[in-house]
Amino acid sequence: MQYEAVIGLEIHAQLLTDTKIFCGCSTRFGSEPNTQTCPVCAGMPGVLPVMNRKAVEYVVRTGLALNCEISLYSRFARKNYFYPDLPKGYQISQFELPLCEGGYLEIPGNGSNTKISLTRIHLEEDAGKNIHEGSASDSFVDLNRAGVPLMEIVSEPEIRTAKEATDFMKKLRTIVRYINVSDGNMEQGSLRCDANVSVRQEGTKELGVKTEIKNMNSFRFIEKALDYEIRRQIKVLQEGGRIVQETRLWNSEKGITESMRSKEEAHDYRYFPDPDLVPIVFDTSWIDDIKANMSELPDVKKERFMNEWGIAEQDADLLASERSTAEWFEETVKLGADPKAACNWIKGDFMKLLNEESIQIDESRIKPGDLVEILGLIDRGTISGKIAKTVFEEMYKTGKKAGIIVEEKGLVQMSDESGLESIIDDILVKNTDAVDKFKAGENKLMSFFVGQVMKETKGKANPKIVNEILRKKLG
Ligand code: ADP
Ligand code: ZN
Ligand code: MG
Repeated sequence: MQYEAVIGLEIHAQLLTDTKIFCGCSTRFGSEPNTQTCPVCAGMPGVLPVMNRKAVEYVVRTGLALNCEISLYSRFARKNYFYPDLPKGYQISQFELPLCEGGYLEIPGNGSNTKISLTRIHLEEDAGKNIHEGSASDSFVDLNRAGVPLMEIVSEPEIRTAKEATDFMKKLRTIVRYINVSDGNMEQGSLRCDANVSVRQEGTKELGVKTEIKNMNSFRFIEKALDYEIRRQIKVLQEGGRIVQETRLWNSEKGITESMRSKEEAHDYRYFPDPDLVPIVFDTSWIDDIKANMSELPDVKKERFMNEWGIAEQDADLLASERSTAEWFEETVKLGADPKAACNWIKGDFMKLLNEESIQIDESRIKPGDLVEILGLIDRGTISGKIAKTVFEEMYKTGKKAGIIVEEKGLVQMSDESGLESIIDDILVKNTDAVDKFKAGENKLMSFFVGQVMKETKGKANPKIVNEILRKKLG
């Protein structure tokens, strides 16, 4: 019997607002516990929440980027449960009237893209954090994170493989970073994903019993955890067992998912409209304004790089995947660089250096104009491609301009024919054996001669001219 997996994702993204959702406390990450709290986010009696306009705007922006319908009327609800990190005893969230409904996200499919439908996007507040370290007998609560705005994105159960789920998350991360609503940092938890997983016989329509997988804080873990869970469920069914609806945690050390709590322990949240907050009613003109001010999305950029500049799909994907990289690349082309040449430098030498330091392209000392300059030096034959690599590395380290490095280090390419000829003559005289072998048909010795010239000239000889002279002399 063939089984197929069915996956739906529930994603939480922390929004990049400076202040919390219902008070003026800072959202900065990593401060001393409880230094960013006030009576509102600490849940004191009698306080009133005031909606953060930016948080609402960010969710709308995301909804527009993900092709959702923006609700002109939406409302906030109380989700009631008891947990020490939730000071009010309820979380303000949205229930029956979320800010955005429907929409979809496109992920790479077989040949064309696959559309994964979205159910909704809503806005809610984060809870605090329980801390169990530091004492054998006590636990602590840090409320710095309580009231930080989160958006929850819920997908329809249309994802079929662990790889698709990972691709979905990667694409979503790219988009939220592009439109500047979340930093998408999975390790720090500003982008988190719970996955609902079930399996069913291929060809059937009915959904199987699902489990909910939590605690996957990287793309790699999402893929591993879901692969494991799908295989586990299939095995249970094949052995005649039944899947239990439950929440399971990914254990990255053991490489397995483990039962955390069953459905019986699930909460009844007793949702009801929050009487402290008025419904949100939009002017369509406000939504139009947000739409008009949005940056170009990654897929649009990618298409443009391919169609207008002839960049290969894989490269276009890479360049478009980070907004800073895409804009840096666009700037070089605007300044006159050949798009393909610029692309090759960025995806090769440049990205290698950036990755070594784990920094973004716009944090580098090399600016778009600097790449354009070195490309010009190569084009005009002032330096060879090989020397250019050394120059580039020096530029990267010191921030010096290419022209200055070339001058200081005397790296100008030797293209002067008579000069090269006398060097080549010397080499041929010293290597009569090789010359004889070459003449007897060992063509691959050509690269030996070129190598000798490069050694002699410290890599500065113009390879094209060296080849011409050698061919003439040996031919
Ligand atoms: P719950 O009532 O348990 O919260 P929802 O219907 O609200 O479940 O769906 C939550 C998430 O689970 C959504 O992303 C949805 O697509 C997904 N989902 C629902 N049913 C299934 C299923 N049988 N298999 C896999 N995913 C599912
Ligand atoms: Zn506060
Ligand atoms: Mg639900």
